[in-house]
Amino acid sequence: MALLEVENLKVHYFTQEGVIKAVDDVSFSVEKSEALGLIGESGCGKTTIVSALMRFVKPPGRVLGGKIIFNGRDIVTMNDEEMRLLRGEMISISLQSAQNALNPLMPIRGQISEKILEHECVTKEEAWESAKKQLELVGLSGDNIKSYPHEFSGGMKQAAMIAIAAACNPKFLIVDELVTGLDVIIQRQLLTLINNLRGKWRPSMIFITHDLAVIAETCDNVAVMYAGKLVEQASAVSLYENPMHPYSQALIQAYPSTRGEKKQLRSIPGAPPSLINPPTGCRFYPRCSYAMDVCQEMEPALKEADGHIVACHLMQE
Ligand code: SF4
Repeated sequence: MALLEVENLKVHYFTQEGVIKAVDDVSFSVEKSEALGLIGESGCGKTTIVSALMRFVKPPGRVLGGKIIFNGRDIVTMNDEEMRLLRGEMISISLQSAQNALNPLMPIRGQISEKILEHECVTKEEAWESAKKQLELVGLSGDNIKSYPHEFSGGMKQAAMIAIAAACNPKFLIVDELVTGLDVIIQRQLLTLINNLRGKWRPSMIFITHDLAVIAETCDNVAVMYAGKLVEQASAVSLYENPMHPYSQALIQAYPSTRGEKKQLRSIPGAPPSLINPPTGCRFYPRCSYAMDVCQEMEPALKEADGHIVACHLMQE
């Protein structure tokens, strides 16, 4: 049984303009120690899925249906105490907001030991010692362990966020927007750090990113989202080499690669649809160069094809 199973998840936002169908009937699973990349354009539902996993969806948003089974228990129906305990096992970090997420008045080491004391039965001294080890694990040692957040660079703050998240050895880590907005050297250091941590403590992970190179380097599998729907899921290598859904193909053709033959980059025509009134049938229909009449009339179901799970009528011919 998978560690996380999301079944037919539906999250909508009830706004004055109308109902935004941000996540509409999405299912996927993550096995123990698997890293799954969640990819797609802004507004496709990736961050809403993370909010639902952590039970952070607030009005006007509402989880309208579906199950989120973590380690055999449904997060959607858990009470607050069960959810509080679960937050030690399943942790979400938004690296983009590392600047604001750290407490400016407390040294980083204190922030980590506080987290350990919250979730583990240890003494203050043990938590303090354990915090030091966590910082060393992410390459922060010596004077850094006594430092306050304002004394850290952007990359060091992100490394500190990872140390805080890893402090309780969570079974599941959700990393939002890994390496966005950082220079390439810091990006490389953080990717190495994440891959080292994966090797040592083998958590399951979800990476949310726009960056296909990050997915290729860190993830086992990839789920591609478009306009609130999951349109393709496959191993990272197979999706990169043989994308089957026209949207996945367009995403990869629009992405510059430093490997293999030079290719001409192509932008995806048009823009993602309104999620208040999404197109009938396939939501990618207005932008798809393979669109057929049936695509506008009938929503394609997810089907397995060559090891990929794909929602496209082309796979069903
Ligand atoms: Fe294109 Fe039709 Fe496939 Fe949608 S179902 S991606 S419109 S071919």
